[in-house]
Amino acid sequence: MSLAAVLHLILHILVPGLVARIFFLPDWRRAWTIMLITMLVDADHLLASPIYDPDRCSIGFHPLHTLPAIAVYAYLAVLPRTRLIGLGLMLHMVLDFSDCAVQRGFADALSRLLGTG
Ligand SMILES: [Zn+2]
Repeated sequence: MSLAAVLHLILHILVPGLVARIFFLPDWRRAWTIMLITMLVDADHLLASPIYDPDRCSIGFHPLHTLPAIAVYAYLAVLPRTRLIGLGLMLHMVLDFSDCAVQRGFADALSRLLGTG
């Protein structure tokens, strides 16, 4: 596993923790745990072959990383009862998008997200 891949995984853990620590006091550990559980969204990688490809952009490729799914996550993020689930999923998508943008450039990542690439 490359250093970039390890850094990406670490950010998937640290960024929700940072958001939880800043915005969800005093119960930030619960918020962080719920957002970490949303990493299960990567289960859609099991549908791909190979399951893990460090050069593949998840956004727009895996079914739970497409624009319609992300629209659902945004909706979940605004509802009080599902806010942490939606927020965790949105943070995940932002991190995956940023990974794509670093790998391939912002325009390519955006065209993948929009399905025009
Ligand atoms: Zn992902």
